[in-house]
Amino acid sequence: MRKDIATPVRTKEILDKYGFSFKKSLGQNFLIDPNILRNIVSHAELTEKTGVIEIGPGIGALTEHIARSAGKVVAFEIDGRLLPVLEDTLSPYNNVTIVHQDILEADLAQVVEEHFTDYDDVVVVANLPYYVTTPIIMKFLLGKVPISGMVIMMQKEVADRITALPGTKAYGSLSIAIQYYMDAEVAMIVPKTVFMPQPNVESAVLHLTRKDKAPAHVLDEDFLFEISRGSFVQRRKTILNNLQSSLPKGKEKKQQILDAFEKIDMDPGRRGETLTIEEFAILSNALYEDFFVAKKK
Ligand code: SAM
Repeated sequence: MRKDIATPVRTKEILDKYGFSFKKSLGQNFLIDPNILRNIVSHAELTEKTGVIEIGPGIGALTEHIARSAGKVVAFEIDGRLLPVLEDTLSPYNNVTIVHQDILEADLAQVVEEHFTDYDDVVVVANLPYYVTTPIIMKFLLGKVPISGMVIMMQKEVADRITALPGTKAYGSLSIAIQYYMDAEVAMIVPKTVFMPQPNVESAVLHLTRKDKAPAHVLDEDFLFEISRGSFVQRRKTILNNLQSSLPKGKEKKQQILDAFEKIDMDPGRRGETLTIEEFAILSNALYEDFFVAKKK
């Protein structure tokens, strides 16, 4: 087997060969520790029958580890300067396709259809560009892309918010939006020293696994997320106060919100951080007629 791309010496060699300079604006912090890469890939439990979507292959450090274990990798890289580098570094692997595109612009359902119909499941494995962590995850989840899980490196603070439980400071609308679809756990905490250049923040690898079934019945998922976002606008305020500001204007607004709380026997004086996803679902269903259907008319 060839020497890993991710050793500090080989990474430097590759960067020097191509005169590559990092772009901070693209979240370019490359991994230079093969142990971390092995660890990430082992969490993804890849087999020959797994298809992988990677975001941001960089110079291919993680990609080659994925390619050794998975059936096929399709990796999206926004930075055109990395294409010749990847062609070179990943030449030993014939199961990798690099797509030069912003992942946020990609038609992911089409990608799965085109590349992965012969595979048992599709997972996302990536060391994410931190400036777009949430939009990337939400694109996969809201777009109903048929993936079974994600093993993704991100800023630790974001991983903490995603995995947070009710009653904690980190719990909020992001925890709800992601835990609605996925079971979420922090697989490992990663120190700054395994990156080149080192980021300013701590990192963590998050393991998301698709839930077999939604945790609650909701009339409209977008509206559930709208209500949960609205309930956390000012964390110290009650949900009633927050929703009064965030829901659309209307003469009867306060009374309609109070009626909804009464209908479901919930205290309008509670704060957003005390509600479980199931309770947010019940609340959004109770507000649905007056504030979602009415808005559409
Ligand atoms: N996977 C490599 C590694 O672990 O060493 C590089 C990871 S680096 C944190 C993030 C990578 O994502 C960079 O290569 C960057 O150019 C790329 N990137 C940034 N924004 C992107 C986007 N919107 N779509 C696709 N790739 C992106």
